[in-house]
Amino acid sequence: MNEGAPVRLVVVQPTPYCSLDCAYCYLPFRNDRRRMTLDTLDAIGRNLLASPLVASEIDIAWHAGEPMTVPPEWYRDAFEKLAANAPDKTLRHGFQTNGIHIDPTWIELWRAYNVRVGVSIDGPARLHDARRRTRAGGGSHALVMRGVDALRDAGQAFHVIAVLTADALREPDEVLDFFAGLGAVEVGLNVEEIEGVHGESSLAGDDIERLYKRFLSRAIERADPGLRLREVEGVRWLLSAPPEVRASNPQVSPLAIVSVSVDGKMSTYSPELLGTPTTRWDDFAFADVHREGPEAILENPVFMKLRADIERGVVACAQSCGYFTVCGGGAPANKWFELGDFAGAETLYCRLTRKATLDAVLEAWETANG
Ligand code: SF4
Repeated sequence: MNEGAPVRLVVVQPTPYCSLDCAYCYLPFRNDRRRMTLDTLDAIGRNLLASPLVASEIDIAWHAGEPMTVPPEWYRDAFEKLAANAPDKTLRHGFQTNGIHIDPTWIELWRAYNVRVGVSIDGPARLHDARRRTRAGGGSHALVMRGVDALRDAGQAFHVIAVLTADALREPDEVLDFFAGLGAVEVGLNVEEIEGVHGESSLAGDDIERLYKRFLSRAIERADPGLRLREVEGVRWLLSAPPEVRASNPQVSPLAIVSVSVDGKMSTYSPELLGTPTTRWDDFAFADVHREGPEAILENPVFMKLRADIERGVVACAQSCGYFTVCGGGAPANKWFELGDFAGAETLYCRLTRKATLDAVLEAWETANG
């Protein structure tokens, strides 16, 4: 049985609210303007971060809503409070933001606390604005690029996450031209997922795996000096990692990732699960950080049933899939949202992000090396 802990990643939801209205968003409560209270932050420090089940170095991702709709002063208090309550731990903060609120005050905060900054951009305006829309229904590309300019002017390092749709896959050079000139430290290529309230994907068509592989092959063939792709680096890392590390998968390891909702509910496994309305799994909320630590998750009877299902899914992967030794059993959230069953194996998500990625990168390298 996979014991999972120690906790290495804590995903904290400072607010469920988001200032954009992207067509592929999975969040069910992105109109909810609640903000995490300082009492809840205090409890996260005392009951979660200070727990012996949590590693000495912890990544804290501020996510699951737009983190920059909460003001920078709030984060100064939050960072100080968490550090004061977990003095023996090293905390590494990270933001993944829609980028439209970036200004010098934020950059100063990130500098002061050494925060890792990720901006979500889907490529040039034509592709980005088709899905990443403002609440008034307009495109958000110009607003994001104003933020990127501020980052570049300040010399603040940032990485990018781009969501690939079928339209983007059909135009690899248009997308790669854009990212090659952006100045990001690294670009991660997510795929448009069937997840949460987003029940369909433009990638569900017949020819998508070929288009996806062609996209990655083209990126490798171009070898843009200003473009480091997370997917290519991931395969490079896999090839050099020892076998037991290659198959490690925090998304199927209990407590390796702990998510905390705006009101202090705790969950584990894929962060996208927490808050998904479902009576069967108690909305994936298995403990309350105000009164207990991460060990309470393991003792929750609904969690125990979930754990058994997820472990059945890992066994199904191991028995059916030649990629298991480099995947470790995929992402429970995608199994649930695509298959309605944690005990299942293959998903559209894994066909693209695991199988086609590995195949495309290895094939492109073989071609390049004769
Ligand atoms: S690639 Fe898909 S089917 Fe294979 S192990 Fe991973 S999740 Fe399971």
